[in-house]
Amino acid sequence: MFDLIVRNASLPDGRTGIDVAVRGERIDALEPHAVLAGAAARREIDAAGMLLSPPFVDAHFHMDATLSLGLPRLNQSGTLLEGIALWGELKPHLTQEAIVERALAYCDMAVARGLLAIRSHVDTSDPRLLAVDALLEVKRRVAPYLDLQLVAFPQDGVLRYEPRRDDPSCTLTAVELLERALDRGVDVVGGIPHFERTMEDGRESVRLLCELAAARGLRVDMHCDESDDPLSRHIETLAYHARRLGLQGRVTGSHLTSMHSMDNYYVSKLIPLIAEAGVSAIANPLINITLQGRHDTYPKRRGMTRVPELMAAGVPLAFGHDCVMDPWYPMGSGDMLEVASMGLQVAQMTGQAGMRASFDAVTETPARILGLEGYGLAPGCHADMVLLQARDPIEAIRLRATRLAVVRRGRVVAEQRPATSTLHLDGRPGQVDFLHRR
Ligand SMILES: [Zn+2]
Repeated sequence: MFDLIVRNASLPDGRTGIDVAVRGERIDALEPHAVLAGAAARREIDAAGMLLSPPFVDAHFHMDATLSLGLPRLNQSGTLLEGIALWGELKPHLTQEAIVERALAYCDMAVARGLLAIRSHVDTSDPRLLAVDALLEVKRRVAPYLDLQLVAFPQDGVLRYEPRRDDPSCTLTAVELLERALDRGVDVVGGIPHFERTMEDGRESVRLLCELAAARGLRVDMHCDESDDPLSRHIETLAYHARRLGLQGRVTGSHLTSMHSMDNYYVSKLIPLIAEAGVSAIANPLINITLQGRHDTYPKRRGMTRVPELMAAGVPLAFGHDCVMDPWYPMGSGDMLEVASMGLQVAQMTGQAGMRASFDAVTETPARILGLEGYGLAPGCHADMVLLQARDPIEAIRLRATRLAVVRRGRVVAEQRPATSTLHLDGRPGQVDFLHRR
């Protein structure tokens, strides 16, 4: 007797008519329906040919700021810099309870969307480390249903941040604050080299943060070159230190938007260096298309990094959500299919392989970047999965498909009724569900 069987599912790799059987918290068997037809389970879900996927993974998010839209005021220009200024205005007024409450509310949305693992940056440029303590508390509380991985993120720049000499409780440097965050249990070392005062300081910040991560055996994920300046080349330094320190497979460059504007000859050298260093990349399509190119008139640059070219070079590339209803972005709802949709459109990856790669960029690839254990649809993996109202990954992205069932460790944690509309038209069908009838 199994605990759960999902019958007649289609899988992201194209297999159809598959039954997935769960015992306890793990997938026990995954076979064509004929093999498991006689098996019994305490609960059965009829997938009816719909797509069963491992859960969505968001490799880049800011959970300390999410759902704070309008506090203390709205971002009028919509720019990255006004967003950073606004966050600075909000920070002194934040309370731990309010951050925890908003983060938990976002995690509710995430679970409903089948998003069960999130890497969130947490601002360490704060002598109270209020957001760090808040998100560590959130990480503990959501652990039964969502994997939250935290990155120590020195938002104000690890060298640019000024300790306040006038206040004895605020004398720690940015590096000391970041190390305290790691001591308290934050998982990954962050950074923001393009925000340091000079290119030289940016390079120095990459060196010292990579060395700090290597000494502690931690992963690295830096906001890197989130700029339209083609001369912002900190990714080169990040790849250099990743290789020098033996951090291959453990270092990520987030955003990399300056690469959109770089000289093509330089990029032809840069991308192989990134691949050689085993550095992965995260593009944040919703945010990049919104925040980049802001100083342009027309033509206006898209600003997203060179996604198909990085993928072609074998660089693991994920699409992240980055922001939902915060000082930088007023939209979003935890829907990684919306993220994948924007990603493939901005990157013009509308070929079949490109669209499938976009689905991988919000599932398998970010799971690898986070180093998630037991992720995937195979015997022995965690029984974490999402049943979508779509037949394949491309249709799922097109429809931002309804999450019919979300399963975490063998337990159904969210359900939604299929999206159908009733029509009242003479001579036409009574219902439309938007699926492609082939
Ligand atoms: Zn970010």
